[in-house]
Amino acid sequence: MDEVTGAQLIAESLKAQKVEYMFGIVGVPVIEVAMAAQAAGIKYVGMRNEQAACYAASAIGYLTGRPGACLVVSGPGLIHALGGMANANMNCWPVVVIGGSADRNQETAGAFQEFPQVETCRLYSKFSARPSSLEAIPSVIEKVIYQRIAVRTSMYGRPGACYVDIAGDMVNAKVDRIVSCCPSPPVSLAHHGAITEAISVLKAAKRPLVIIGKGAAYGRAETALREFVEKSGLPFLPTPMGKGVLPDDHPNCVAAARSRALLQADVVLLLGARLNWILHFGLPPRFDPDVKIIQVDLCAEEIGNNVKPAVALLGDINSIVTQLLGGVRNDGWKYPSDTEWWNTLKDKIAANAKISKIVYYCIIIYAFLSFLHLQLLPHDCIIVSEGANTMDIGRTMLNNYLPRHRLDAGTFGTMGVGLGFAIAAAAVERSENKNQRIVCVEGDSAFGFSGMEVETMCRYNLPVVIIVVNNNGIYSGVDPETWKEMAKMGDLTSIAPPVTLLPEARYDEVMTAFGGRGFLVRTVEELRSALQLSLSDWERPSLLNVLIDPSSDRKQQVTVTCQEYM
Ligand code: ADP
Ligand code: MG
Repeated sequence: MDEVTGAQLIAESLKAQKVEYMFGIVGVPVIEVAMAAQAAGIKYVGMRNEQAACYAASAIGYLTGRPGACLVVSGPGLIHALGGMANANMNCWPVVVIGGSADRNQETAGAFQEFPQVETCRLYSKFSARPSSLEAIPSVIEKVIYQRIAVRTSMYGRPGACYVDIAGDMVNAKVDRIVSCCPSPPVSLAHHGAITEAISVLKAAKRPLVIIGKGAAYGRAETALREFVEKSGLPFLPTPMGKGVLPDDHPNCVAAARSRALLQADVVLLLGARLNWILHFGLPPRFDPDVKIIQVDLCAEEIGNNVKPAVALLGDINSIVTQLLGGVRNDGWKYPSDTEWWNTLKDKIAANAKISKIVYYCIIIYAFLSFLHLQLLPHDCIIVSEGANTMDIGRTMLNNYLPRHRLDAGTFGTMGVGLGFAIAAAAVERSENKNQRIVCVEGDSAFGFSGMEVETMCRYNLPVVIIVVNNNGIYSGVDPETWKEMAKMGDLTSIAPPVTLLPEARYDEVMTAFGGRGFLVRTVEELRSALQLSLSDWERPSLLNVLIDPSSDRKQQVTVTCQEYM
């Protein structure tokens, strides 16, 4: 048996578990780990902040189904990554964080950047451990991967963040190479009695609704789900990241009648979505108090949260949808398309289409962004979206047509995830030759959290298109003249509204500083041409700094601009 260093063993253990991407920031003691990862065939992306690195690694887990690795140094490096771990855990996305730490003979001695890392990570992960010896590294890493695919115990099957702590002195120590891969995950079906019951509840429903969550996206249930929805004729509604599992323009999609559908449904088939804040807890006033929930989830502890389900289907969504499909196929049952419920939903969709135009007229950019999306953005682009208004409005205006093509602030509502997510998506695009655009639609405030990652994009020639919807602040800001006047009045730290950011900040120049393309955009025409130029460049990232009226509810001006283009 040949000898390898600890760094090589970590890299080869990750590779053996089919980890293909590593994001991180190197320093003592993990530089050798990153080098060994590259030598083992893992793609290494050096980021500018561990938080963004961890966001990126977790997006890999969601996009590819295998976790990405995040490599960080001890103490502050690991602490920066905690935000990414928490976000991954809340989203139920797999990620493996590898942290360097103090040498074994210096533990608790006040070593450089020493911190109780394993204990700290416990709250942000589902598994946190420090291998006791070099020999234990492969099995600890295997356990981490193993757990994320949910086969260790039937009770704890939900993907999430995991942490492996590596003592600094292990990195260069020698050990015999013993690495093996974990078996592929067994898949669980729901109890057949529960399936029969679910089908009879669905058949008896007057106002049924299917809700598609990001668990369905993660579980790659799109093919079975499409057949199920089409065979059963049921209306469906995606959650924000459930968008695209079935296309937003599918005839059974009732997203444009979301509130009505939620409120009046008497039976909800809930596929991989939690009844948390995103779904108004499944409770009145947003849901019927007597609604019957058929809850599908692989996490038994999730079943019954906030609402006691009429039927619980525990297991893998893809398999369960296939089971339900079998039931529907057997007797050819289909929910009729001429019911009062379908008519109600269709009327509401038609009415909302008119209202939403009027509402969005007062928020200039979103209206024409949606116009441009329909006209200019390729259907298969991955849309990354964050920022309070930008994300909310973008969710309704920017369509998704393919599964796992929308990445946003997610369950945890984390701002600052966008650039890391986009880098992960672009790395996958590059390595799989997908010819697919990654478009990041960001608020100006959201962009700022990880803005330096544009250097990462430029360094690796990742052709991400970033559209910064710039209203000079968080929620809203002030115009340059008002800002100057305020500055004359005294110390801005006492006067400036806490929501304000520098008016008309040149985020586009941040991009050009590193060799990417930057565009300052004030009009629809400028937006159109900047977008066309950006989308034709496959070598460099672009940033469109779209200045919008910081107090954009001055309806009149906006109405004119948008009516011209909608
Ligand atoms: P959303 O944000 O779309 O509402 P959530 O993140 O709240 O979605 O919920 C996703 C749910 O999907 C989680 O409860 C998770 O346990 C579950 N889940 C993830 N993967 C699968 C799968 N393959 N099969 C079944 N359930 C899954
Ligand atoms: Mg803003």
